Amino acid sequence: MRTLKPVRTAYPGRNRLGASDARESGETGLRGGLAALDRKDLIRIMPAKGANMDVVVVGGGVAGLSVAWRAAQAGHAVTLADPSPGSGATHAAAGMLAPVSEVSYTEEPLLRLGLASLELWPSFAAELARESGVDVDHRAEGTLDVAFGADDLAALDEMAGFMGGLGLRVERLTGRECRRVEPMLAPAVRGGLLAPGDAWVDPRRVTAALLAALARRGATVVAEHVAGLAVEGGAARGVRLGGGRVIAADRVVLAAGAWSGSLDGVPPGVLPPVRPVKGQIMRLHGAPGFLGHCVRGVVHGSSAYLVPRGDGEIVLGATQEEMGFDTRVTAGGLWELLRDARELVPGVTELEVADVCAGLRPGTPDNLPVLGPAAMEGLLLATGHHRGGVLLAPLTAAMLMAELDGGPGPYAREAEVCSPLRFGGGTARAAFAAHHR
Ligand SMILES: Cc1cc2nc3c(=O)[nH]c(=O)nc-3n(C[C@H](O)[C@H](O)[C@H](O)COP(=O)(O)OP(=O)(O)OC[C@H]3O[C@@H](n4cnc5c(N)ncnc54)[C@H](O)[C@@H]3O)c2cc1C
Repeated sequence: MRTLKPVRTAYPGRNRLGASDARESGETGLRGGLAALDRKDLIRIMPAKGANMDVVVVGGGVAGLSVAWRAAQAGHAVTLADPSPGSGATHAAAGMLAPVSEVSYTEEPLLRLGLASLELWPSFAAELARESGVDVDHRAEGTLDVAFGADDLAALDEMAGFMGGLGLRVERLTGRECRRVEPMLAPAVRGGLLAPGDAWVDPRRVTAALLAALARRGATVVAEHVAGLAVEGGAARGVRLGGGRVIAADRVVLAAGAWSGSLDGVPPGVLPPVRPVKGQIMRLHGAPGFLGHCVRGVVHGSSAYLVPRGDGEIVLGATQEEMGFDTRVTAGGLWELLRDARELVPGVTELEVADVCAGLRPGTPDNLPVLGPAAMEGLLLATGHHRGGVLLAPLTAAMLMAELDGGPGPYAREAEVCSPLRFGGGTARAAFAAHHR
């Protein structure tokens, strides 16, 4: 492997919640031509099929770790660089794998991606547990979406019809039936929709498991931030760390979550247009069996949810705020979480607070992730997962593995929907059109 020894460095500017404010390093690893967007033909990366490569993954959230794990399993020499793996949005995430109950009228392509990934989760979790010795608390007990007033019930019925039309399995329950399946629900609940196929995991355990599995596979984790790409002849050929050292690679996978749009010196149109979408979340110490399902509902105009863990923990989520790179936990945010959760399940206010935090979801203009070859040879993107990065992790890893192997393989349809080139300037758009003709 053409790489450096792992280096352990402090990461200046990391705040109490583990988020970074040091992304604006003036240092860039770029040299040579930045003419990738001028290239007329070569957009998709074409390695020799099956060849083992040196792969550098930038970012150790659930996306980067999953890709790194699958790449190491496939025999590639993997180095993952992140000053603090698992400390980004993944640390905050509730871990719902809920494409059905999260479906919205305008987001059918996202639903299809979510369903495909949901199907991969049981084997992903089982294999990860076998390889790491860490159980990720994968539970597939379903989501119960509840309603209070006549308007809510009408919206629920409409949604049930929409879901039925898409072939999704949901059950419409009366208020009494809702309380029979979830006795802790508020007496005011008048009806609900049960999505029995929805599931969830504990993202912090997923991080621990992936790191253990990576170590077992001999991958290198470098605890340093990446300042820029190392570019040769217009192609990404590695990364330059904040300390100045270069890790050479055949392929660079950029999976830096909400920070993926700010790698220094990369030509315009190559990096994805991700923005941070702040989410505050709270964890409570409950008792096993306090809730059996993930419970959701629209309260005071915003969507609130409670996710029960196997050890009794109850997760209350989550705010959605356009606040830039701000990870402060605010009194107002916590108040909203508790107020809304109490409307759904009044007993939550009796529980002890275990943890509060905020994370930055990597949002994109069309709410779809950005997965696959960028408009620069050697660079692959695995980011932009917004509210569904945990759900989409197995699919992300599978799609990126196919691309490392030379093309989208069985994921041609998903690759088209998620192509990084869909946001590019004129040249990237033309290449996108040619590629998907
Ligand atoms: C409150 C909240 C609740 C959520 N709930 C759910 C849920 O229930 N289900 C679901 O599927 N999704 C959920 N999400 C969304 C999910 O957390 C994200 O989509 C997912 O974690 C994104 O993963 P990531 O690996 O892309 O980014 P992150 O987890 O943010 O990881 C990015 C990593 O990149 C590193 N990094 C950044 N810049 C650099 C650099 N220059 N060099 C090296 N490393 C760098 C960071 O240190 C970080 O570790 C939630 C998010 C939030 C905030």
